[in-house]
Amino acid sequence: SFQVLQNRFYSSRVAQFTGQKDASGKYTVSLIEGDGIGPEIAVAVKDIFAAAQTPINWEPINVDPILKDGKTAIPDAAIESIRRNKIALKGPLATPIGKGHVSLNLTLRRTFNLFANLRPCRSVAGFKTPYDGVDTVLIRENTEGEYSGIEHVVVDGVVQSIKLITREASERVLRYAFEQARAINRKKVRVVHKATIMKMSDGLFLNTAREVAKDFPDIEFDAELLDNTCLKMTTDPTPYNDKVLVMPNLYGDILSDMCAGLIGGLGLTPSGNIGDECSIFEAVHGSAPDIAGKGLANPTALLLSSMMMLRHMGLNEYADKIEKAAFDTLAEGKVLTGDLGGKASTKDFTSAIIDRL
Ligand code: NAD
Repeated sequence: SFQVLQNRFYSSRVAQFTGQKDASGKYTVSLIEGDGIGPEIAVAVKDIFAAAQTPINWEPINVDPILKDGKTAIPDAAIESIRRNKIALKGPLATPIGKGHVSLNLTLRRTFNLFANLRPCRSVAGFKTPYDGVDTVLIRENTEGEYSGIEHVVVDGVVQSIKLITREASERVLRYAFEQARAINRKKVRVVHKATIMKMSDGLFLNTAREVAKDFPDIEFDAELLDNTCLKMTTDPTPYNDKVLVMPNLYGDILSDMCAGLIGGLGLTPSGNIGDECSIFEAVHGSAPDIAGKGLANPTALLLSSMMMLRHMGLNEYADKIEKAAFDTLAEGKVLTGDLGGKASTKDFTSAIIDRL
């Protein structure tokens, strides 16, 4: 049977939160409400935090892109806010497809060097999916690989996209994965790769992992081919519940969405973009333009992202309390949003959680 695990905190010595409390004992968090359903689910989180008397002040920031020296950039005020607070919660940002400017999500990752993308996926009791008791923790390298943005036309009809892997970025995310395993009491770190084909790039990632593993004798280390992982996970995901999975960027992007599918979709999955200087927590889903402004959005993913954020900040007791209220509401199944088969509005669902605090 499924249980909410208490006192898990997604943080580590590699990327410690160094924000300061103000005179009233509160931390300030930069808040990017985002596009589409973003403002609706952000209000839900703010209302729940207020009801739980969480010691957080919100600092709303505008990240509408500007052009700086011909490149997409984030307004200085927003950058200063995140640098000052060292922490941000972010709603989804719509990315225009095929237009010239770089994705804002990528820009944020690059600006703050958010080197690790932490994606836990845990089954929600009461919400029926083909799999029960899923509890995966996946860490994706967040700065390079196929997403380095180095592409060019060789000749007409032939293009190249460069997959860039460096020992430095690999080591940083691998160390974070081992630290994270310690922090959440998992005894195994598994690297997911395709070094059989990508001999040099994934080979470097894998060899770096072998080196880093020597510094963590208390954690078991092994490796698995990505195709094998997909096959095994969709057959039975539960053997992955005692592991932290870590992998290069593209694999992590795809496999983490597959994990989200195992627990019932993107409306339930949170994430953290972790850096040494600051970290940004966000729901995995997009701006859901089809339901925006209708009061129908499920705020669970952003709320669970904010729970990861609270634990990163060391505010575990608030995270435990709010998370329990949210999971109990979901488990009871009486007040659910449309994506989970219910008829409740975002507001009804939010109130049901607040009533349990
Ligand atoms: P999406 O995640 O926005 O929506 C996919 C489907 O899931 C839609 O039917 C939507 O209604 C539903 N859905 C998503 N979140 C939900 C929620 N919280 N509650 C209820 N239903 C929910 O994906 P998309 O339509 O491919 O993308 C829309 C926009 O979002 C695009 O511009 C895309 O680039 C952007 N996007 C942003 C991020 C991000 O900011 N991290 C991530 C993914 C997509």
